[in-house]
Amino acid sequence: MSHAADFPYPVPEPGTEPFWEGCNAERLLMQRCNACRKLRWHPAPLCIWCQHEEHEWVPVSGRGRIHTWTVITHPVHPAAVDHVPYVVVEVALDEQSDLRMVSNLVDCDPVDIVMDAAVEVCFRRHASGQKLPVFRLVHRNT
Ligand SMILES: [Zn+2]
Repeated sequence: MSHAADFPYPVPEPGTEPFWEGCNAERLLMQRCNACRKLRWHPAPLCIWCQHEEHEWVPVSGRGRIHTWTVITHPVHPAAVDHVPYVVVEVALDEQSDLRMVSNLVDCDPVDIVMDAAVEVCFRRHASGQKLPVFRLVHRNT
């Protein structure tokens, strides 16, 4: 299938390279503050909780639950014409209740989405070659 355009994607900036390299290795990495030890999304030079400067990159499970979502039915970019409807989701990651990440929910019918549904990360390659983290529904008992 040919597309009139490709979706834009985030250009790695200084300080975010570990995140994007992690995606290319299909690992979801988050910054963890060296002072308060909280994880944060998205990458930032200062801790969003305590403003401390030092952090380390740590892998997270990529598992979480749907906090909220929306179904995009109107293409807002030429590349989206062949992709609507698609789902934008905010995931509350399992590691920390206030660690939330915005992404796409893939491989599902929007009518099957419910609040608090379990999801897990997977990675899709953008036309540029960069892999992007997206989520899919999973079925688990906990
Ligand atoms: Zn902190």
